Amino acid sequence: SCKSEGGNGIRTFEPEMLASRKKRTESEDDIRRGIEESLFEPHFQSVTHLASGNIVGFEALMRLNHPEKGLIPPAEFIAIAEESDRIDLAGRQLFSKALSGLRALGQRHGDEHLHIAINLSPVELTPEKIAFIASELEVYGVDPAQLTVEITEAVFLEDSDRITECLQQLRHIGCKIALDDFGTGYSSLAYLTRFQVDIIKIDQSFIKGLTHPDPAIATRSRRLIEGIAAIATNMDCLMIAEGVEEEEQARHLRTIGVQYAQGFLFSTPLPLSEAMALV
Ligand code: C2E
Ligand code: MG
Ligand code: MG
Ligand code: MG
Repeated sequence: SCKSEGGNGIRTFEPEMLASRKKRTESEDDIRRGIEESLFEPHFQSVTHLASGNIVGFEALMRLNHPEKGLIPPAEFIAIAEESDRIDLAGRQLFSKALSGLRALGQRHGDEHLHIAINLSPVELTPEKIAFIASELEVYGVDPAQLTVEITEAVFLEDSDRITECLQQLRHIGCKIALDDFGTGYSSLAYLTRFQVDIIKIDQSFIKGLTHPDPAIATRSRRLIEGIAAIATNMDCLMIAEGVEEEEQARHLRTIGVQYAQGFLFSTPLPLSEAMALV
């Protein structure tokens, strides 16, 4: 094996350490190449109006389309890309392609008002990024009201003026703000008093709970979602349920009054060509 022993008897190169370091370097190379060759692209997951079953829009989810390795999911590169400005550069590629995709989807759908949602990491909330977003909306002729920016509660961990100002600026130009993975972050609910959000996305872990084999867990999950729905309604927020996989979950959500849903029950995230067939 390739272990080497230091003089003090401590193994300095564990094989796992080498492997994880190699994997990290590989990811960094993939990200760098992705930025240079514009390999970051959106896959589109439909957002469905629960009462009518109509598709009202899409969430653009980032993939790195590697020429040799194929599609690389966000779990494998977002955290590393967030350590530098690379997430911002990758996000710009994704955004322009998402807007161009939205135009194609809107034309096909015969609806100029399809919505598009993008995810922004905390480090992406900068005045420069907002300016880029505003100018791309204009370039692609997309109404800012069609754009939802998804953030997680993590952005409120640092109580910075930059974050609040950027979110206010986005609302000022007419975009909507959605709180992703609601209820799973470490921050307090106090940010809801400081800042108006438009949409609360109920995390998929709560939705899974609705059909948990243990009936006590299923009941508590339903009551928790009812509570979240009460908060959302009182705060003038619409709700989107995430990760809906079963019709029974959708039934519960309709009863509770959750307006919109995403999940494999309706569609997985799809490349543009396949999303086109949905609308
Ligand atoms: P998210 O924004 O909460 O996205 C939902 C994730 O759940 C997506 O994973 C989606 O593919 C997955 N999902 C959707 N429906 C179902 C379902 O019914 N069952 C299950 N098990 N999963 C479902 P994905 O695409 O791997 O994205 C993971 C996360 O990466 C996203 O979570 C988001 O936080 C982040 N992300 C994705 N795209 C971007 C981006 O462009 N920029 C940034 N900064 N983050 C992104
Ligand atoms: Mg999201
Ligand atoms: Mg989510
Ligand atoms: Mg998430």
